[in-house]
Amino acid sequence: VRRPLLAGNWKMNGLRAALTEVQRVAAGFAGAPRSRIDLLLCPPATLLAAASAIAAPAGVFLGGQDCHSEPSGAHTGDISAAMLADAGANFVIIGHSERRADHGESDALVRAKALAALAAGLTPIVCVGETRQEREAGRAEDVVGSQIAGSVPPGFAPNRIVLAYEPVWAIGTGLTPTPQDVARMHGFARERLEAALGAGQGPGVRILYGGSVKPSNARELMSVDDVDGALVGGASLRADDFLAIAAAW
Ligand code: 13P
Repeated sequence: VRRPLLAGNWKMNGLRAALTEVQRVAAGFAGAPRSRIDLLLCPPATLLAAASAIAAPAGVFLGGQDCHSEPSGAHTGDISAAMLADAGANFVIIGHSERRADHGESDALVRAKALAALAAGLTPIVCVGETRQEREAGRAEDVVGSQIAGSVPPGFAPNRIVLAYEPVWAIGTGLTPTPQDVARMHGFARERLEAALGAGQGPGVRILYGGSVKPSNARELMSVDDVDGALVGGASLRADDFLAIAAAW
């Protein structure tokens, strides 16, 4: 059985004052959902250590939003996977569509970053997803299939990697695919993960859905076959909303 994972991606949001939201998530998680799901917050790297001190004792995992593909060296402004781990992270988001678009990250670079994360003992959350134009052209599965083939490092145990399907057109737009579309894509992604990781490995990988998840649609989306959790942006910034989504399980 795959344990659901609810992940909050704060993106480039959050000053130290926002640690009160981490505190509220940690306090809320002490309640019922704790036994049923894994909860993860990915604040900006500047808040990671302070957030970890608050969240880790409550059993809330912490994650980074990106890491460099190299373990250390002359890469001004970048952050290594080991630095994230040292600051208290257990996970790291890799290849988010905003990184792919804003920083031109290729599948090959995303895979290299995922490998760096694994080497540092972090669990990479590898993100894939098609644009609106690609979906309208009937190419959604082609795009996601080739992103999985190119970005997911081969040969790892299924519990070491998380996949996130985030259709680009659903991010921050209030739009979501239908449950049928989500089920189809997650089933397809699981087949392709099996090809990437090896025979029999597909069923062990957690596949998250991301894109405009909020308290009002979480229950419907999270009950879809092959959906093992959510990667939430905007609605993860407020503890109340995030905890309301956690109540979907
Ligand atoms: P929203 O939940 O704001 O649509 O963002 C989704 C996302 O990109 C999470 O990584």
